[in-house]
Amino acid sequence: MKRDKPIFDTGSEHATSGRRLVCISLADAGSAADLSDQLGFFGFTTRIVADWRDLQAVTGSAPITVVMLDAELLQQDDEFAHAMRDFKQQSSGTVHLVYVSGTDTFELRLAAVRGGGDAFMVQPLEIARLIDKIDSLMGSAEREPYHVLIVNDNPDDVSTYAHILQSDDMITSVVSDPRNLFPVLIESKPELILMDMHMAEWSGVELTRLIRQQETFIGIPIIFVSSEKDVEKRLAAIGYGGDDFVSKPVVPRYLNALLRLRAARTRHMRFFMERDSLTGLLNHSNLREKVGAELKRAERIGNSLCFCMIDIDHFKSVNDTYGHLTGDRVLKSLSRLLQDRLRKSDVIGRYGGEEFGVVLFDTALDQAERIMNEIRESFALIRQQFQGKEFYVSFSAGVSSYPACSSVAELIETADKALYEAKERGRNRVVVDA
Ligand code: GH3
Ligand code: MG
Ligand code: MG
Repeated sequence: MKRDKPIFDTGSEHATSGRRLVCISLADAGSAADLSDQLGFFGFTTRIVADWRDLQAVTGSAPITVVMLDAELLQQDDEFAHAMRDFKQQSSGTVHLVYVSGTDTFELRLAAVRGGGDAFMVQPLEIARLIDKIDSLMGSAEREPYHVLIVNDNPDDVSTYAHILQSDDMITSVVSDPRNLFPVLIESKPELILMDMHMAEWSGVELTRLIRQQETFIGIPIIFVSSEKDVEKRLAAIGYGGDDFVSKPVVPRYLNALLRLRAARTRHMRFFMERDSLTGLLNHSNLREKVGAELKRAERIGNSLCFCMIDIDHFKSVNDTYGHLTGDRVLKSLSRLLQDRLRKSDVIGRYGGEEFGVVLFDTALDQAERIMNEIRESFALIRQQFQGKEFYVSFSAGVSSYPACSSVAELIETADKALYEAKERGRNRVVVDA
């Protein structure tokens, strides 16, 4: 990630990748501009399109686009309603329409559905909710491919299966000698194993038993590929921890559909095991674990890293004034902002309540300070809402670093002390452990 990206650049990185374009085509120019600013904080590239007739030309270049439109126009202008329905249909899933309305009636909602609407939102728009909605509409296109491990000692079979899976956008790893099985399972964390039943020196059932005896791998689905017709033998294999059978010769479409479904479930399950349900960030124990892993990596390759502890200012009074649900949305807005502003490889977790922990790898203390300050300034400008009332929230952060600190405990304790100092010095600031 380009770290020197200015804060008010509404997501130039995304602009270059052509993703996450939000077109705003609302009659009220003031609220369109305001919405554009707010979405910009979260890294969306926005375009204000004054005349809806120009939409097609603007969205044509971006693979996935969300378009914000006035729902009222559907009832006032038949040409608009028809044009939007056609626009949606012709986009073959790359355009998502969000209708915005000042009133909430059944007729308007129905008109929005008929006008190709994917979502209907009532004004005043709550930014956190809108972001959630846009994320989920765009989400499917941004998902990482599933990863399948093929265990098979026959090179022809391996290349056949790999080819089939890759043609459906899955990633494959191969183990042809089971002595490599565990390192591969740990390193590449596949979401599923496609296991040959009968190999020259070992059987798929033996390997399945081996895998299932280790607690870490109890949840990973194992699908056998087999010409075995004997129901008793198939049942025995399932008894040892196999999940399903695919018969040889495999039918590509069937294989892909089956594996996709199972891999999706693994991913879903892992997500809930490792992550905090409110924010989707790493939970406390996984964050600590990751900090340890990153520290080891830094030691191994001789890199520096920084650990940042972030704590929302006066959060108790946010809850007391606007209620817990609003507080939750503030937490989500911060987590969303962190995810957008940091690199994909940076570790972000919810340390506890309103505290977050971040690891910035290969980053010096002064860089970390600048990055955290940019995020802090953006966060303080995000308009939070509660029943039409607006308010702003800030955070404080403390930053520690390796090699100055040499253990997880020391990194955390030092960042915590710096955070305490930031609070003492008046909050809404970043203090680094110099
Ligand atoms: P300071 O600026 O000193 O950090 O003040 P503060 O009010 O943020 O700190 P304090 O530790 O007094 O209060 C933290 C509050 O965070 C109390 C708790 O109710 C709230 N909180 C913790 N977890 C959650 C959560 O998941 N959702 C919501 N809405 N509030 C939470
Ligand atoms: Mg706290
Ligand atoms: Mg706090």
